[in-house]
Amino acid sequence: MHCPFCNTQDTKVIDSRLVAEGLSVRRRRECGACRERFTTFESAELVMPRVIKSDGAREPFNEDKLRNGLLRSLEKRPVSLEAMEQLINRVRSGLRATGDREISSDVIGNLVMEQLKKVDKVAYIRFASVYRSFEDIREFGEEIARLDD
Ligand SMILES: [Zn+2]
Repeated sequence: MHCPFCNTQDTKVIDSRLVAEGLSVRRRRECGACRERFTTFESAELVMPRVIKSDGAREPFNEDKLRNGLLRSLEKRPVSLEAMEQLINRVRSGLRATGDREISSDVIGNLVMEQLKKVDKVAYIRFASVYRSFEDIREFGEEIARLDD
């Protein structure tokens, strides 16, 4: 694996442990050239269902897109990157568990929001407000009110 700081190929694993209920391996690596340390997450590449977008177009499930959306929602929130990776893993497992070859983007969005709500309610509201075009301000208010349940 290349060092993200100096791009040399000489990196070694200094720590390795299972995370996300054993679905991922988290590795700490150290660069042999610049001595910088960084973390990688590794999980099995299983076939993911394809995504049916609202206009009917199909596209591959894009984990980076999901990660970017989550990073934006979780900005300045007390949630670790590891907790976020676990959330992504749960979403992936949830999608595979449906057994469907194609899944609508709505179903995926709901699955993400369901998981995000358990992790951080502010991030959940942020994600929901971007992902869902709330019909009007009242609907958004109801969504926030439900958080107190
Ligand atoms: Zn380096």
